[in-house]
Amino acid sequence: MTLDLLCVSCGAGSFVDVLSFEDAPVFCNVLYDTEKQGRDAATGSISLVQCVRCGLLMNSSFDPELAAYAPGYENSLHHSSVFQQWATTCAERLVRSHDLRGGSALEIGCGRGGFLSLLRDAGMSRLVGYDPSLPADAEAPGSGSGIDIHRGFFEPDGDSVFDLALSRHVLEHVTDPAAIVNSLAAAAPSGVLYLEVPDASTMLRDAGIYDLIYEHCSYFSAPALRALVERCGLAVVDSRTEFGDQYLSVDVRRAPAAEVRSEDPVDPVLAAAEGFAKQATQERSRWAERLADLENSGKDVVVWGAGSKGVTFVNLINGGDKVSRLVDLNPLKRDRFVPVTAQRVVSPDDLRSDPPQVIIVMNRMYRDEVSTMVGSLGISAEVVVA
Ligand SMILES: [Zn+2]
Repeated sequence: MTLDLLCVSCGAGSFVDVLSFEDAPVFCNVLYDTEKQGRDAATGSISLVQCVRCGLLMNSSFDPELAAYAPGYENSLHHSSVFQQWATTCAERLVRSHDLRGGSALEIGCGRGGFLSLLRDAGMSRLVGYDPSLPADAEAPGSGSGIDIHRGFFEPDGDSVFDLALSRHVLEHVTDPAAIVNSLAAAAPSGVLYLEVPDASTMLRDAGIYDLIYEHCSYFSAPALRALVERCGLAVVDSRTEFGDQYLSVDVRRAPAAEVRSEDPVDPVLAAAEGFAKQATQERSRWAERLADLENSGKDVVVWGAGSKGVTFVNLINGGDKVSRLVDLNPLKRDRFVPVTAQRVVSPDDLRSDPPQVIIVMNRMYRDEVSTMVGSLGISAEVVVA
């Protein structure tokens, strides 16, 4: 197919179609104060295409003006202890592998500074973060915490250099990820960069259609992330997939051109995308039938996790609007409404007074945590993974 589109990772201009969805909520991580506001939330199209050179998946219908970051964006996962444990291990590994004790770090897209505080706890001493979508009511860590958070975009000035510059779950949201990588590289000219994204290979392998969200204009697998790094004149020195293969991350340094070469084959990523559309259709039918059966048998169904996967599930599956509530541990989400299908978000405690019969967990990584919590609430609901 021919498109007036260039790959934002490798710069090539040749793509194949993968699949498309209409009417996806533009913001899966923005919740609304009223049911009506939720119902009226903006929607957009997802037309997934794949770069045949590096395997990057891009939404060719992505409209950056539609997706300009709104206040109220809330995607912190730090309320889950499973996530918190993993993030702590990740911060400790970075500090240990690159000898960063006492060093400084810059994070672009730091949210409320959760990961910066883990780097501080792991021994780093000067932590600076930037985030243009930091909520207006966000409490920045106090002075004396060693963490300095700015609401806005980072502009490298050459004066302030860091030992570590990182971005986690940002590159997939921006139309020019190379600009972020170049800014990080300018901020840590002789330091290390750490980049982390959702692993698109896992999404393709597991038919993870609830990871398809409008806010992601790109979906990186290993060869695409490496292509981006190398196009910025940098080299991947270490890479891994973690958190149940869901996250792909690389440690990056400046390298002489001779050392820059790709090692991740693109063919498996291209092959996986070929079967993805068919699997996506099957997954949607399977859940539509199951939700219809549950409704017919009069069972109250809730979704656990009012993050992007949960919001995508209720919007993408026929009958998803019959799910009565979404449950979330984050107290900031409580009593707010999800986009388009407009269910209320409740806290786990709220389930005590009106317990559901079925709880759909959106991320298999949280299944045990949710089952334990449901047990301690005294609820005997069936817990299933979407
Ligand atoms: Zn490419």
